[in-house]
Amino acid sequence: MKTYRIATIPGDGIGQEVIPAGAEVLKALAAAAGSFAFSFENFGWGGDWYRQHGVMMPADGLDALRHQDAILFGSAGDPHIPDHITLWGLRLKICQGFDQYANVRPTRILPGIQTPLKNCRVQDLDWVIVRENSEGEYAGVGGRAHQGHPIEVATDVSIMTRAGVDRIIRYAFKLAQGRPRKHLTVVTKSNAQRHAMVMWDEIAASVALDFPDVHWDKELVDAMTVRMVNRPASIDTVVATNLHADILSDLAAALAGSLGIAPTGNIDPERRYPSMFEPIHGSAFDIMGQGVANPVGTFWSCVMLLQHLGEDAAAARLMAAVEAVTADPALHTRDLGGQATTAQVTAAVCKRLAH
Ligand code: NAD
Ligand code: MN
Repeated sequence: MKTYRIATIPGDGIGQEVIPAGAEVLKALAAAAGSFAFSFENFGWGGDWYRQHGVMMPADGLDALRHQDAILFGSAGDPHIPDHITLWGLRLKICQGFDQYANVRPTRILPGIQTPLKNCRVQDLDWVIVRENSEGEYAGVGGRAHQGHPIEVATDVSIMTRAGVDRIIRYAFKLAQGRPRKHLTVVTKSNAQRHAMVMWDEIAASVALDFPDVHWDKELVDAMTVRMVNRPASIDTVVATNLHADILSDLAAALAGSLGIAPTGNIDPERRYPSMFEPIHGSAFDIMGQGVANPVGTFWSCVMLLQHLGEDAAAARLMAAVEAVTADPALHTRDLGGQATTAQVTAAVCKRLAH
């Protein structure tokens, strides 16, 4: 029997509540399927680790992850540590260290969940946003000079490489090709950003030639926010830069009902390194420690993890269990207007899986 090695990194805040819930659901799934097993290794990295060791994760942390089959990640972000330290010291260290250049974010309106959009049918909102995850606005290039003085200067330089843009756009075209509508929207801002984004557009046009069966269009990022709200059915697969897709995917999650249900995968498509799956939400300081975090974003991320491992039947089984649970308003957490706890939603999904 195949045993998959899964690293769990709960991190901070509600990550410590939803990741154990995800592991519990994966264990229940493996027990019910009977054809594979998981061996979990948990890493207590994050804000508490930082308070003890002065770093978010050990210097050789990536080596402990390298031979895992996948990583399940919670959130990096602590109320008492600056956000750029927690983000760069843990999550980005793993994403960049393992060159997980494709960040994939599916969005759908799950059964029982209300969209804030008027006149939007369930079938109108079925998107996958592909976020460039290795360079662009979050390349980490820049600096500060004259710190603290009136003439202080600070730069964040966006880096776009031909290789980096080509591989993410190619990945998005391939993903669009595998979906029923075969439609890709390339998000840009080449009217104002006249160097890198113009190259981005040129590369999109040339990659498109390799995918003649995929319809594609181009949208400026500001207009894209309007299109997502006013014409959701005109969108299927989307590709955008690191910053643009970061923002668009939070909007997408809200339009699909809640940030608490949205999943993501940080994928190394070449499978040189383990890929990392996580809910898109953060540490949620306002609700942490209360046991009311919505675990559905983590469960859906587990579905993506299973798909990545090639366990498609198990992935479908878990998604069906999650959808059966969201369909019941008595099992909605507070973010969805309900009163259910993380533990109740988790138990309900596990019970479904045992059927
Ligand atoms: P957030 O996602 O933590 O919270 C935004 C709002 O959504 C809050 O009101 C929160 O209660 C609610 N929410 C989020 N997830 C929820 C869930 N599962 N169930 C119910 N409600 C949920 O975003 P933020 O407030 O901007 O950031 C808080 C911290 O998290 C910051 O330190 C930030 O840097 C970090 N963060 C980390 C990641 C990551 O590690 N991937 C992502 C986003 C934010
Ligand atoms: Mn984000």
